[in-house]
Amino acid sequence: MLRLEDATVRFGGRAALDSVGLGVAEHEIVCVLGPSGSGKSTLLRAVAGLQPLDAGRVLLDGRDQAGVPAHRRGVGLMFQDHQLFPQRDVGGNVAFGLRMHGASRAEQVRRVKELLELVGLPGASGRAVAALSGGEQQRVALARALAPSPRLLMLDEPLGQLDRSLRERLVVELRDLFGRLGTTVLAVTHDQGEAFALADRVVVMRDGRIAQSGTPLEVWQRPADAFVARFLGFEN
Ligand code: ATP
Ligand code: MG
Repeated sequence: MLRLEDATVRFGGRAALDSVGLGVAEHEIVCVLGPSGSGKSTLLRAVAGLQPLDAGRVLLDGRDQAGVPAHRRGVGLMFQDHQLFPQRDVGGNVAFGLRMHGASRAEQVRRVKELLELVGLPGASGRAVAALSGGEQQRVALARALAPSPRLLMLDEPLGQLDRSLRERLVVELRDLFGRLGTTVLAVTHDQGEAFALADRVVVMRDGRIAQSGTPLEVWQRPADAFVARFLGFEN
């Protein structure tokens, strides 16, 4: 459903994405791993339409996305720092994307209720965002990203701010949730444990290129090169 062909993004003389080829199938959960600065966020931003390509193509369901603005791509992106609107309550945050898509007031209320139940925060609609724990805020951000029913959900370090025990619990919940919804997911993390628990397939990036792509087991048992092996080892 998603395909990148020779996708290249340059900043100054340096390629943040260097001829990346990548396919994501319908309902697949792909996790992108890699050190800081390897191009993970740039990859998501390019797919979302927030970062123009210098070369190559992004295709969604076979259609070239060149010139298609972000809000017309039907993809959801949850940013690295989840960026909730502090002045809006939980419901206002979740309804944001629905309002943008012209949903009626009644439809918004119905969907917000449904989504908050989905992420395990039933009845939280009227609560102030500032009064929520980090994990609860992360769930609200997830509900907001899911609200317009994106055909592709992209998550940039979705659990990044949280402590390990909470992350481990949420990863299991997320995998279950995406399975039930049939969501196609492209998620970035630099935590290999998180990637291996969440993903059907893991993609390891290095310097704007894909160093390896495979199932968690394949990557774990047969790292493609010394870089991948070292990266996996160092992360423990
Ligand atoms: P992290 O794990 O730290 O979030 P990342 O893998 O997401 O890292 P990117 O944010 O994609 O890395 O950045 C890849 C490279 O591109 C880095 O060298 C970064 O400095 C550079 N870069 C990213 N965005 C810009 C920009 N807007 N202008 C100039 N350089 C940029
Ligand atoms: Mg990043």
